[in-house]
This record gives sequence, C-alpha cells and structure tokens, in this order.
Amino acid sequence: MRGVPHKFFKLPVRGTIYTVRFRSVASRLRGRADFGPKILWILPGESAETTLIHEVLHAALPDLDESSVLETEAALYLALQKFRRLKL
Ligand SMILES: [Zn+2]
Repeated sequence: MRGVPHKFFKLPVRGTIYTVRFRSVASRLRGRADFGPKILWILPGESAETTLIHEVLHAALPDLDESSVLETEAALYLALQKFRRLKL
C-alpha cells in the first residue's frame, strides 16, 4: 500500500466534521472512531459498509453502548439492503 493514496471523504456528523479513511488501523479491528482527530477508520473490503455504519453510529451517539451500536448497525444495514432491492 505504500505510495498508494488512501481514499477518504469528509462527513458531517451532528455538527462535527469527521474524515472517513479507508485503511487498516489494527490487526483485529474492522474499524475505529478516533474522537480526538475526528477520524473514522474503516478497513476496506467486504464488510466496509457495515463497519462504516457502525463507526458513524459511534460518532453520532458516543454514549451508546457497543451492543446497541451493533443492533442498530444490523437494522440499518438490513434496511438499506431491502431498500436497494426495491430499485425505486
Ligand atoms: Zn463499536
């Protein structure tokens, strides 16, 4: 990956601008919300979309416990899948 520019975008989350970056941060993690520098790290690949939803939830609702984040992530991901199938 050295020399390859990492993909990113800016994302406003409840009044705070986060940078969403797609690269690995730690071996066991799919993503991480860094509240200091306001960066959401997402591991690229198959599960990037659910990880993105997960980390945005952490950014939007930092007091939400992990199991609530996971349950909400699953509901939002399922809703998006069903919505896309309708092809409106
Ligand atoms: Zn989490």
